[in-house]
Amino acid sequence: MSETFDVAVIGAGVFGAWTALHLQRAGCSVALVDQYGPGNARSSSSGQTRVIRMAYGADAIYTRMAQRSLTQWREFFASIDQPRLFLATGVLWIAPEGDRRTEQSLATLRACGIAHDVLGARELAQRYPQIAPAAGSMAICEPQAGGLMAKRATQAVLERCLRDGARLRIAKTLPPTGDGRLQALATAAGGHIHADHYVFACGPWLARALPDVLGGRIFPSRQEVLFFGPPPGDERFALGALPIWLDSARQYYGFPDIDGRGFKLACDAHGEAVDPDTLDRTPTPARVAEARAFLGERFPALADAPLVGATVCQYENTSNGDFVIDRHPAFDNVWIAGGGSGHGFKHGPAVGEYIAARIAHDGPVEPRFALAGKSDVQSRQVH
Ligand SMILES: Cc1cc2nc3c(=O)[nH]c(=O)nc-3n(C[C@H](O)[C@H](O)[C@H](O)COP(=O)(O)OP(=O)(O)OC[C@H]3O[C@@H](n4cnc5c(N)ncnc54)[C@H](O)[C@@H]3O)c2cc1C
Repeated sequence: MSETFDVAVIGAGVFGAWTALHLQRAGCSVALVDQYGPGNARSSSSGQTRVIRMAYGADAIYTRMAQRSLTQWREFFASIDQPRLFLATGVLWIAPEGDRRTEQSLATLRACGIAHDVLGARELAQRYPQIAPAAGSMAICEPQAGGLMAKRATQAVLERCLRDGARLRIAKTLPPTGDGRLQALATAAGGHIHADHYVFACGPWLARALPDVLGGRIFPSRQEVLFFGPPPGDERFALGALPIWLDSARQYYGFPDIDGRGFKLACDAHGEAVDPDTLDRTPTPARVAEARAFLGERFPALADAPLVGATVCQYENTSNGDFVIDRHPAFDNVWIAGGGSGHGFKHGPAVGEYIAARIAHDGPVEPRFALAGKSDVQSRQVH
């Protein structure tokens, strides 16, 4: 007879890792199951860095979650003596003056008591002469926001879970069958996982893991992340000289050079539909050319910077960008946690906390996260 856990968490990305950690803190025994293993290169959580910022337009729900998560990330990193897994670079939102979403972000930041500065065009140019913003730009600066060392941070959370007794299984689970109460979950290798509760945190594979419920409702999109090498001896693009920045109008964002990897540049617009198992992860010349054109425009000193690295990953989008965190409609002991939609990483701690609380105490599901609101037609609302 195999061991029965309080909870089996399927998927060891950032959502699964933090869910497991919160469940363990609540006293649960946890099995973590991942088909490729924690930190695998195909998972959405495996990049070098991810932005954590609080500005979310009028979507105060995500502002508050990011605020709560930043506190938890920092406390966790301090507890493992790795404070530099969070880099307090500050985050600079560059936007056209009068931009509606920026005005909404400002109102939300004020309402939530989040520190920020507003920079007019002249101040922006004075403070960051290495940036050449479009005419008529302004910026919001969130000085307490920054970057998470994503892959290392996820692995650190997983290591804590394992150290505290979680069991790791490398296995691919099959979709659950039946209804009512799920007794056991079958794996592709012919084994079974037994638990009182199950959480599917399968990222871009959610539609495949739960085809009856999410088939056609998770849209993995190809996202290319490029690293350009600053000129020798030029410190203007290094950590400390430049914050993380986002260009709202053009949908590009980037990081200063961290650990010598290069100046990171990526486009937040959704790329084409992809399969996370078989996606060709080599960068495409057309995307590199588009990014280089933007780079030369916005950061003229990097116009001829060589491409020194690239990663190709995928977002796991819901129809509108809201997370899907809900109980499985056919099983009262199965939960779904996913749909990070290109902005989920930062929220790992708050998502894990939310799921753990639902399993322990039940409680209503936040309507924004409900399965019922997720359509099979994409119309992105959350950025
Ligand atoms: C290029 C890029 C940039 C991003 N930038 C940011 C950012 O700056 N800030 C931000 O907050 N967010 C960002 N995101 C989004 C964020 O990274 C994701 O939303 C988040 O990492 C998703 O985590 P997850 O745990 O849901 O999924 P994943 O990390 O993909 O984990 C899912 C895991 O489930 C496992 N799995 C799947 N199916 C099965 C199965 N049947 N059996 C067993 N295991 C299974 C997989 O192997 C995988 O390890 C970005 C994403 C990308 C791709």
